[in-house]
Amino acid sequence: MTHTAEVVDVYQLTPTVKGFRLRVPGHEFNFEPGQHTTIRFGSGGEEVVRPYTPTNLPGSDELALTIKRYDDGLASSYMHTKRPGDVVEIGPLSGDLTLADPDRDVAFLGTGTGITPLLSILRQYLREGTGHAHVVFGEKTESSIIHRGTLNELAADHGNLDVTFTLSDPNWEWTGRVGYVQNHLDDLFDDLSTRDCYVCGVPPMVVQTKARLAELGTPGERIHSEGWEDGVVGGS
Ligand SMILES: Cc1cc2nc3c(=O)[nH]c(=O)nc-3n(C[C@H](O)[C@H](O)[C@H](O)COP(=O)(O)OP(=O)(O)OC[C@H]3O[C@@H](n4cnc5c(N)ncnc54)[C@H](O)[C@@H]3O)c2cc1C
Repeated sequence: MTHTAEVVDVYQLTPTVKGFRLRVPGHEFNFEPGQHTTIRFGSGGEEVVRPYTPTNLPGSDELALTIKRYDDGLASSYMHTKRPGDVVEIGPLSGDLTLADPDRDVAFLGTGTGITPLLSILRQYLREGTGHAHVVFGEKTESSIIHRGTLNELAADHGNLDVTFTLSDPNWEWTGRVGYVQNHLDDLFDDLSTRDCYVCGVPPMVVQTKARLAELGTPGERIHSEGWEDGVVGGS
């Protein structure tokens, strides 16, 4: 079922990423954190449909979306023209990247807009989970870290959450970790054989991180991803 949603607010998160609060008055969004909706609109006589993942929890009449703009991207450019008071069509929520077990320790391993399902699942885990969570989030530069403030505030509020950022292209002032997420795993985690690991990001990162987790002893059933990335990377 599709809905016409009102754009309540639009806010800049990084130079190329905006946040959007969408509201469907009188409707309650019920979904599993980590699932995505779709944005739908007509362009050149064709219907454009693209998935986007809310970062908020279910149970309200709103979805909070985080959308990175690609200059030649149809849907992301369309959304970046939206202003409060505009309306957009959204599709039903679906998807399989959801919290498997709130009683296990978890690792959330992400890059870029891959943070969107991880943030929603993290919020659920901080409400329901009984173990330890560690977010390892990779970006290219400091200014492109999406939701850095939110992640830091959640870490400040929850003693069972650690957050680590790593940059692949830092400036000279950055004193944090450098390089890809998958290259820090053995250093950051004592034992990855018992954690549930949630992986989301650009396809090569997902494929390489899953391979590294397997090398470090994480059983296949504890590695959770959307699953389409392997096909995109073509087995590399
Ligand atoms: C399950 C799922 C959930 C998603 N959730 C989000 C989300 O929460 N936030 C978000 O911003 N995106 C998300 N995406 C990606 C989103 O659906 C679109 O693919 C993205 O916004 C580009 O769509 P577009 O119509 O703007 O670009 P298109 O018109 O489809 O593509 C045009 C051009 O954009 C560029 N481009 C598109 N995607 C990428 C990419 N991943 N990396 C590099 N260049 C690219 C390429 O140059 C491409 O040629 C998700 C995707 C999936 C599969």
